[in-house]
Amino acid sequence: MKTNNLGYPRIGSNRELKKASELYWAGKITVDELLNVGKNIRATNWELQKNAGIDLIPSNDFSYYDQVLDLTLTVGAIPERYQEIARTSNSLDLYFAMARGSQKEGQDVVAMEMTKWFDTNYHYIVPEFTKNQQFKLFSTKIVSEFIEAKKLNITTKPVLIGPITYLLLGKEKEAGFERIDLIENLLPVYFEILEKLEAEGATYIQLDEPFLALNLTDKERNTYTKVYNEINKSFPNLKVILANYFDCFGENLETALALPVDTFHLDLVRCPLQLDDILESGKLASNVNLSLGVIDGRNIWKNDFKKSLAIIEKAVAALGADRILVAPSCSLIHSPCDLDLETNDQTLTPEIKQWLAFAKQKIKEVTLLKQFATNETDRNNSINFAENSLANQNRKSSKLIHNELVKNRVKAIAKGDDQRQNTFATRRQKQAESLQLPLYPTTTIGSFPQTPEVRSWRAKFKKGELSQTEYDALLEKETKETIRFQEESGIDVLVHGEFERNDMVEYFGEQLDGFTFTKNGWVQSYGSRCVKPPVIYGDVSRPNPMTVKWSKFAQSLTPKWVKGMLTGPVTILQWSFVRDDQARSETCTQIALAIRDEVVDLEKAGIKIIQIDEPAIREGLPLRKEEWAKYLDWAVKAFRISASGVADDTQIHTHMCYSEFNDIIQNIADMDADVITIECSRSQMELLDAFADFKYPNEIGPGVYDIHSPRVPSNEEMVHLLEKAAAVIPANQLWVNPDCGLKTRHWDETKKALIEMVNAAKKMRVAATQLETV
Ligand code: GLN
Ligand code: ZN
Repeated sequence: MKTNNLGYPRIGSNRELKKASELYWAGKITVDELLNVGKNIRATNWELQKNAGIDLIPSNDFSYYDQVLDLTLTVGAIPERYQEIARTSNSLDLYFAMARGSQKEGQDVVAMEMTKWFDTNYHYIVPEFTKNQQFKLFSTKIVSEFIEAKKLNITTKPVLIGPITYLLLGKEKEAGFERIDLIENLLPVYFEILEKLEAEGATYIQLDEPFLALNLTDKERNTYTKVYNEINKSFPNLKVILANYFDCFGENLETALALPVDTFHLDLVRCPLQLDDILESGKLASNVNLSLGVIDGRNIWKNDFKKSLAIIEKAVAALGADRILVAPSCSLIHSPCDLDLETNDQTLTPEIKQWLAFAKQKIKEVTLLKQFATNETDRNNSINFAENSLANQNRKSSKLIHNELVKNRVKAIAKGDDQRQNTFATRRQKQAESLQLPLYPTTTIGSFPQTPEVRSWRAKFKKGELSQTEYDALLEKETKETIRFQEESGIDVLVHGEFERNDMVEYFGEQLDGFTFTKNGWVQSYGSRCVKPPVIYGDVSRPNPMTVKWSKFAQSLTPKWVKGMLTGPVTILQWSFVRDDQARSETCTQIALAIRDEVVDLEKAGIKIIQIDEPAIREGLPLRKEEWAKYLDWAVKAFRISASGVADDTQIHTHMCYSEFNDIIQNIADMDADVITIECSRSQMELLDAFADFKYPNEIGPGVYDIHSPRVPSNEEMVHLLEKAAAVIPANQLWVNPDCGLKTRHWDETKKALIEMVNAAKKMRVAATQLETV
């Protein structure tokens, strides 16, 4: 039996890489200084895994930005617009230009597109392919990192994204070809890489092919068969570990099992039943090994050794210990680095901490499991085993986790609880009467600029340098000014500005029971950006109102409507580490009830318009289409539960952004929000066609300007977009608003842009009345 790891976090346990990269980009450190930070992180990670007892230690899992971009550079798929930079800069600057764009000395190239890595919150840089795409070995990073480890006396297992997954991750930038057909051009470069690695003494290679967990076409499946047979023919001595993760092989199982590889890696956390399928199928060749991904690479819970050992023992009984590898379910880049760094008992109590394991702890779990499974260590006499059992038992029964009131409330949800009192048509009339809004009502998405000043107040308040009263007074002043500005500029539905919030999920998590936080639990989101998701460890409830005070305060300042601002249950779930001892749908429903209470309290406090943001609703979609309906069913229901406690004339908004919505438009309609505001301007309102074709029944505010740019759009531009919108959606269904929240913007451009936006709406109204009189 061997221990296997698929990848280790590369940000450094104190985010060393983030800090160094940002300093390098700002011109404050040299290339060599940055390269040194990378080298140290790699050495630290390899040593750590070696000392823990990992047999197959990954290399090339390190990246200065993204592993897909690394491969794009490796195979020389450099888009035309970077050729000039390729000629004149070092390869690291070329690499960063592709990742982030480059704007200097008359040079202005946009970055490559970025999108989510399967169903994770990690974003990769999307390869761009053209019809006659050529590939050539451009960077030998994978080889040099193998050699670098060898110098430290560590023979690693290089990790590479498999050729088919790489092609499928990319985008066709012109018509007239299918990217899968580029395999003929690509494969020779893979062969060159494998040759070089073998020559340096590599015996193993891990090829990641998570597309095997998705719905494939026959052609794609056949390509798998062809490619892996060719690799095997040319490299009969290289041990290929074919890694699949995030779901089962599904209908690709037979194709996969017939591939001539050394080892299949299985994600048994996402797909525990797959092992039985494989063992029972009798289709696993007798010389092929299984890497059992029993430790959750995507979550922070301590493994349950008893459960994992039962799985390992089943596989050993069927195949023999020699053919088994123990592993995390996927690369550990989706886990925070080191639980040992969580030393603040107040932030993370010892009781909860004992239930957790981060990357470093998971590595240890992998090696312990092997020791127990092979009886190298007697589990009955092991402190580690006893401690693991105790922690798991304690977690099951802890009073911290289980709240009968919450569980009963979920059970008692009745049929109509996810339905508003009347249909949209009726609500709309009542809302029109009570709200008295003009045609093309203007609003914003919620946040106003979070200036360094605002952030410094919060930091000082948290450190105790500002009292609650002092902090509140500053926030009140900022809120007041924001309300004044919105009144003066003629916006119809105002917001309070969200100055009291650090982050749209953390702010709610901090006030809900069942959530906890870490000080250092960072996970790479993209490039140097890291996120620190809250941990949902127990039944969720809302001990006190969370937003009523600020909404009420803001409403008291103005006769205009102030929109209440909440984060929806699905987004809170999606952007947290979620407990694994009950279905996600159950946790989501608990959050939905907590948000529902908040919505009702806002209504009671006189707030007539309430927005429940769900930007992450699409991210939760399962990888396989056949499972979409089930997810959408409970996700939409959770939103509806949160929104349905109010009277007909209270208007519920939702907001979504930066996702593909066309294929879930029916489900978005099923959410039955009275108004949806949605990011649209980057696609020049293209998205609206989907809403128009579908005849989206409720009101809709397509974003009329991109909030990611400091650029101030003219009212003519926005009128143009609104005309496009009005051409496909009835004017009395349309709202006017920016794409998303304004918290990353500066005040100066924000004010100018919103004034232009109001002018655009006014022009549209005038045009509409002229049309009427004609
Ligand atoms: N209300 C939030 C804001 O304006 C919405 C943010 C988002 O969509 N991600 O900041
Ligand atoms: Zn948004």
